[in-house]
Amino acid sequence: MTYTPTIGLEVHAELKTKSKMFCGCKNDPHEGEANSYICPVCMAHPGTLPVPNEQAIEMVLMFGQAVNATVAKYSEFDRKNYFYPDIPKAYQISQYAYPFLSGGELKGVALTRVHLEEDTARSQHDKGVGSLVDYNRAGVPLMELVTEPVIHDAKVAGDFARELQLILRTLGISDANMERGEMRVEANISVSKEAGKLGTKVEVKNLNSFKSVESAIAFEIERQAEVLENGGVVSQETRGWDETKSRTFTQRSKETAKDYRYFPDPDIPKIDTSKHEAFSATRLAEKLPKLPENKRIEYKNLGLTSEQIEVIIAQSDVDAFFAMLVENPTCTGDVARLAANYLTSDVLSLIQSGERQLIDLNPKHFLELATLLNESKLNSRIAKDLLPDLFTTTVGPLAIAKERGLLQVSDAGALDTVIKEIVSEYADIAAEYKAGKEAALQFLVGQGMKKTKGAANPAVLKELLEKAIK
Ligand SMILES: [Zn+2]
Repeated sequence: MTYTPTIGLEVHAELKTKSKMFCGCKNDPHEGEANSYICPVCMAHPGTLPVPNEQAIEMVLMFGQAVNATVAKYSEFDRKNYFYPDIPKAYQISQYAYPFLSGGELKGVALTRVHLEEDTARSQHDKGVGSLVDYNRAGVPLMELVTEPVIHDAKVAGDFARELQLILRTLGISDANMERGEMRVEANISVSKEAGKLGTKVEVKNLNSFKSVESAIAFEIERQAEVLENGGVVSQETRGWDETKSRTFTQRSKETAKDYRYFPDPDIPKIDTSKHEAFSATRLAEKLPKLPENKRIEYKNLGLTSEQIEVIIAQSDVDAFFAMLVENPTCTGDVARLAANYLTSDVLSLIQSGERQLIDLNPKHFLELATLLNESKLNSRIAKDLLPDLFTTTVGPLAIAKERGLLQVSDAGALDTVIKEIVSEYADIAAEYKAGKEAALQFLVGQGMKKTKGAANPAVLKELLEKAIK
């Protein structure tokens, strides 16, 4: 029996605003001493009033531009009531009927809505002293995105989450590190025998890596199909993901919207987005950076491979560096491909090993290196050797190569003396080559490279040696 799986995702992302969602406390939930960024507002003392953070709303609307969502003209905040130690007010300020965004699409997956809410505090139960609560995170702006239940494959869900992380980072609105809880994915999964009819939905939480998103969904699809196959009934519930055991487990039965008794927060004025200059579509469009999808097209047109493109756009500093290179009109064709090649291999390995920092590499000098390579003025061996020095000197690769006599010599006249020396010093080997031993020539070319400290063009050297001996 085959079952059709249907998956919808809910993703929370901590927004990188300066202050919290409804007060002036520092938004820095991952550093600093516990309970040091708190005030009467985020601790819900009587008589305090929440004031919405304009920067957070702007970030959500900016995201809306990136995914072509519809911006609500009218929006409001609601109270989501539940009692838990990590919620000082005994309700969370969220959005229910009037989210800021609806519709839109990301990586081919239709979005239902995107709203803004406040994060909860962080509870810790593993310190051996009962339960501890750190309220630094309480009130941090949280963007919640909900997709339509249109995903039918674990890998598609994983790719969606990866692309979302990339867009959040590109927009600079969230660091979206899943291990740090800056981006949290929940998956609603059901399986059904009849196509077009949805089965009972199970929500899986605690997915803190792309790998766990994919593994948990794949596990759950199989588990539900097995339950049905054995004549059982899938119960609607919230399940957690146990990374070590690679399985989901029952956490609690799922609350419904009714249980939360949502109602509009009477302390916060309704928001008419069209009345705020900061929220105008034209202004947001001006601020919108180049999106991953557009970069992919642009870099593909430059002749980069898909692998190179993904490596470049995945890291904002590498991406910014490459963008500076292509601003230069000479960075096209072979030069652009060479630059991308060296950037994604040699440069990145120097950086990842901790030997060098990208910030120390002058894009102009790096482009000069790619140009010299392309013009055969440097051979690739010398270019590799020069690369680490470009991070530590203020002069360009041409000047360094000239000073050290490393410019590739392709000029027959300039190589003449070297050829003569080799032929006389290794007369016996030259004779072997003449007698038909092909490998002997390679040895002689090697000697020529040694004599020129690697600066000779090996192809030219080979040709000249051949001629001289024959
Ligand atoms: Zn506060």
